[in-house]
Amino acid sequence: CRAAARPIATNQQKADLLLKVKCFIFDCDGVIWLGDKVIEGVPETLDMLREMGKKVFFVTNNSTKSRAGYMSKFLSLGLDVKAEEIYSSSYAAAAYLESINFQKKVYVIGETGILEELDLKGISHLGGPSDADKKVTLKSGEFMDHAHDVGAVVVGFDRYVNYYKIQYATLCIRENPGCLFIATNRDAVTHLTDAQEWAGNGSMVGAIVGSTKREPIVVGKPSDFMLKNISASLGLAPDEICMVGDRLDTDIMFGKNGGLTTALVLSGVTTPEVLNSPDNKVSPDLVLNKLPDLLSIKAALVSA
Ligand code: PLP
Ligand code: CA
Repeated sequence: CRAAARPIATNQQKADLLLKVKCFIFDCDGVIWLGDKVIEGVPETLDMLREMGKKVFFVTNNSTKSRAGYMSKFLSLGLDVKAEEIYSSSYAAAAYLESINFQKKVYVIGETGILEELDLKGISHLGGPSDADKKVTLKSGEFMDHAHDVGAVVVGFDRYVNYYKIQYATLCIRENPGCLFIATNRDAVTHLTDAQEWAGNGSMVGAIVGSTKREPIVVGKPSDFMLKNISASLGLAPDEICMVGDRLDTDIMFGKNGGLTTALVLSGVTTPEVLNSPDNKVSPDLVLNKLPDLLSIKAALVSA
């Protein structure tokens, strides 16, 4: 027998949510924006939540930009946010290394966001965009050297990934004693354009898992590293924090792992078919069509 389909939250459920929750953590793509377009009604919803005294944080698994890069994106979309409200997986990688007092060099598969965040923490790095054009010839006798003082490989989304970078990262992890393998995230696919799904960072991480037989330390969603970072200073009970996301296996899992209240929005990657499929084992506390559904509460309060 089929389980009943999950209904969209009623006004009463939305009101209960707003009463209980003191802090909202928003996933970005699929909740706040789609690609480079803000989702209609989101600015007003964020204004409403701030007016109600709610704290807000924005968490993205997309490591291509730094927090400063996201700050510019938020501003260009007309969204007024503070730098400390943004947690990108690029920042999480640098914050993780800082938290373990990392003193060596990092080899990066990834784009400028990771490099900028490492620079801000004073962590030296190599690789990234500067290895984009490097090639291996595989002529007889070719030998690739690597830096023996690399103590961590960070793998983030990289549109310029190539065999040189994969080999370099593999050499560091296999040959440098104790070298860490850190993944910003493992999203299988992403929506780089609205025309189709594109291979996500899971594909780059998978290449290094395949060549090293090692599992990475994941610092983005659904790991709880970012959550600990965010909640440390808040002094709130987990269920007073609501994770709002469009993805079951990263956002909603992330929230559930931390004991948070969870709300799934259907404005991103998850369709009602996927949510209600018997294969789906992840059940959010609440389902909204899109974040601005919460605005109906304001309308109800005004007309009451
Ligand atoms: N990684 C990449 C490369 C992306 O382009 C995206 C979404 O655009 C994501 C991850 C997921 O981002 P978010 O966690 O904001 O949904
Ligand atoms: Ca998302």
